[in-house]
Amino acid sequence: MFGKLFKKTEDGQLDLPINLYNTESGKLEKFVPISDKVVTMYTCGPTVYDYAHIGNFRAFIFADILKRTLVFCGYDVKHTINLTDFGHLSDDGDAGEDKMMKGLKREGLPVTLEAMRELSDKYIEAFFDDFDTLRIMSPTTWSRASDYVEPQIRLIETLEGKGFTYETSDGVYFDIQKFPRYGCLGHIDISKLQSGARVMVNEEKHHPADFAVWKKSPLGWDSRWGKGFPGWHIECSAMAIATLGKEIDIHTGGIDHIPVHHNAEIAQSECATGKKFVNYWLHSEFLTIDSTKISKSIGNTITLRQLIDRGFTGDDYRYWLLTSHYRSPINFSWEALQGAKQALYRLKRYVYEDYKQIAGKPSVDYIKGFKAFLANDLDTPSAIALIWQLVKDDKLDNKTKCATLRIMDSVLDIGLSDDLDEGAKILGVVSQAEIPTEVQELINKREAARIARNWLEADTLREAIALKGYIVEDTAYGPRVTKN
Ligand code: AMP
Ligand code: ZN
Repeated sequence: MFGKLFKKTEDGQLDLPINLYNTESGKLEKFVPISDKVVTMYTCGPTVYDYAHIGNFRAFIFADILKRTLVFCGYDVKHTINLTDFGHLSDDGDAGEDKMMKGLKREGLPVTLEAMRELSDKYIEAFFDDFDTLRIMSPTTWSRASDYVEPQIRLIETLEGKGFTYETSDGVYFDIQKFPRYGCLGHIDISKLQSGARVMVNEEKHHPADFAVWKKSPLGWDSRWGKGFPGWHIECSAMAIATLGKEIDIHTGGIDHIPVHHNAEIAQSECATGKKFVNYWLHSEFLTIDSTKISKSIGNTITLRQLIDRGFTGDDYRYWLLTSHYRSPINFSWEALQGAKQALYRLKRYVYEDYKQIAGKPSVDYIKGFKAFLANDLDTPSAIALIWQLVKDDKLDNKTKCATLRIMDSVLDIGLSDDLDEGAKILGVVSQAEIPTEVQELINKREAARIARNWLEADTLREAIALKGYIVEDTAYGPRVTKN
């Protein structure tokens, strides 16, 4: 519906181009999709061995804003997010402990494929719940790695057939020296990798940066290389190709995926298909705590559930994240989140109390400005600043503001378009029917005292009301009651 505001020109391009920072070129580039109609987008998803932490959700909220911006500009988006339920080692390369094994041990489960499925079921469900709490849209396809073992094996066979892999005693490896473009993402210098590698972890590898596409193991699936499981990187290539095609428009992930995981994805996919795998690579920066990356291996994680337990909402966290640009590192603090919570609460009061969620016609100027910010590499901090400019703009009436905010909220989704009852609940406003009679009587007495300008008595009654667990505040619409 909003796409109509931004017509496509005769050559199929949008009147205002979308510019996105492509990690591959290191530049802002005008976005031109392969097909005029449907944009294809792949996002590296979570490893489902534990609860995702709030840093992980930065990567998914960024992808959500990107997708909604494309939809806002009139595109349809076909989007896949994968769920890694085996094969991701604690190191992005071939070293470290398998994350799923870690999860099995932690929960006292046996090392079997069934137990792995059970463990990942639990954390996939939790992940989906967190997605809802954060108002992140579900992708067109959730691709679960263990449901796509067949296409992964076929992809490895293709690579083997074309001579890009070699077998060792512990697996099958991709030979990066056979793909001259290896390391194109982030301009990784392969010769430096060779000389800089202190220990050849695996003597059988031709190059220290060669990566496993198949790991031999007593646990796993049958293949021509024996029992085992596909390497972590191959799952994304196989599932992107299976669900979106050999050439896709956009691939997203956190910056930690640039050096190894995404370079490996490019190498595998392009060697197998002979086509350019991805046109736009977009990466979100880290979330840190005390300037250290949040990470399960460091042990400084905070989960969304912990934020909720401390009285924050998914909207508070989403709003806070969007006040920074996705390519800037941000440092989490409870104080910063509290500041965001208060700001968002004030915005919600405008929508649900002042505007009463009654919408007229939106302001085309504001919407155009909003779109221009998003089209400039998803500049959400400026988009949010514009929202504040809008609510304070004396030249616009409430209905116009409300309608404009609703459109903006179709992209930002920070809880400005819920219905009035839901809005009152979010604000914690207690409806008259819910106020206990004895509290209502005190409120009525206080109103009478205020009308009689008996301020001392009004204040005493306010305290009496507070002792019963309610806060009364005077507004232009009469007393506003919230729970203490
Ligand atoms: P993982 O489950 O480790 O594969 O991570 C899922 C997503 O979260 C990936 O896109 C990572 O890049 C991203 N991620 C992990 N840690 C952080 C962090 N501290 N800040 C931002 N994004 C992160
Ligand atoms: Zn991936």
